[in-house]
Amino acid sequence: MTKNKTRNIGLDIKAPKEKCDSVKCPFHGKLPVRGRVFRGSVVSDKSKNTIVVMWNYFNFIPKYERYERKKTKILAHNPSCINAKKGDVVVVAECRPVSKKKNFVVVGKEGEEK
Ligand SMILES: [Zn+2]
Repeated sequence: MTKNKTRNIGLDIKAPKEKCDSVKCPFHGKLPVRGRVFRGSVVSDKSKNTIVVMWNYFNFIPKYERYERKKTKILAHNPSCINAKKGDVVVVAECRPVSKKKNFVVVGKEGEEK
């Protein structure tokens, strides 16, 4: 494979227009994505190549026949070709552990949160 050629990651998501030569990029490197895919908003972009993604969901409790509001916060790898910022809505895909706490990688942006 030639350098900077975009890989097909197996998801229905367009590859970013920017390019990078990082190994830990699902499109231009060798990071395979497999497992679960989530959509969430970026709460923090302070650390380098890492963002915090959060999403809300409802969990049904049969005893009370009502839903509780829950949230999930994860760390995700943010390749330089995607470069998601705080407030963006992103799609994250599960991958192999990139570091101690990162098991997800950003695969696409879906505009900004309102
Ligand atoms: Zn890349």
